Amino acid sequence: MDLLERGIFGFVHRVPGWVVGLVALLLYGVGLILPPILNWSLARLVIANIAGTAWAAVLAIGWLWVQIEARDRRHLMEWTSDLRQLSAEEFEWLVGELFRRETWEVRETGRQDGPDDNIDLELIGKNGRTIVQCKRWDSREVGVDEVREFAGTLMREGLHGSDGIFVTLSKFNRPALAEAKRIGLNLIDRYDLYERVKKVRRTEPCPICTAPMVFGHSRYGWWFHCEVAGCRGKKNLSDEVGRAVEILTLAA
Ligand SMILES: [Zn+2]
Repeated sequence: MDLLERGIFGFVHRVPGWVVGLVALLLYGVGLILPPILNWSLARLVIANIAGTAWAAVLAIGWLWVQIEARDRRHLMEWTSDLRQLSAEEFEWLVGELFRRETWEVRETGRQDGPDDNIDLELIGKNGRTIVQCKRWDSREVGVDEVREFAGTLMREGLHGSDGIFVTLSKFNRPALAEAKRIGLNLIDRYDLYERVKKVRRTEPCPICTAPMVFGHSRYGWWFHCEVAGCRGKKNLSDEVGRAVEILTLAA
């Protein structure tokens, strides 16, 4: 069943919605049309009908699930101002969405349960494959052991140090920084990550100084506010719930 599940999800992940719909319709149609042509008994006809419908439903639900996941991922990018509130899985999503908005083609590898859990995301670019490891730690610093372990993974994948990106919500300690520099590994710590997320967030220009405002949520509702020192520009979106939802749910 596990393999079947993965097959279905793999399918609905990779093809556009209309193809899924078409296949679902075909499956339904086959269950409906084929039995009378083949002159099947009523019992077999009913079974074929149920099977066709069930398969169509499975595909439709799978597709819906993928859509919901994609929507949640976009949510994360917009409202997350404190990344420490994210679970490890959500953190991985966020990092994936970040790279996607930075125009990479991103593949969630789903290899967490596999023998090598150092590959969380794969980025496909013009110059080949880049592998991303995400560590959601926020207090413990990433050390040289973790960097070497990741370097080992890259080597096994036939890649160079520069083909790897290590992302953490924490920081890298000195030996880790030195080792990463030696092998050319790319590091993204908490500060870099916030900077990059900020850049790909959608926003509006400040009504006073036209700098891009920051989107956030307070107990008064949804707000854009200006972060330029001394500027008090802001915009309340609470009366524009539709607009706030749009910002939250639409892709950049
Ligand atoms: Zn301003």
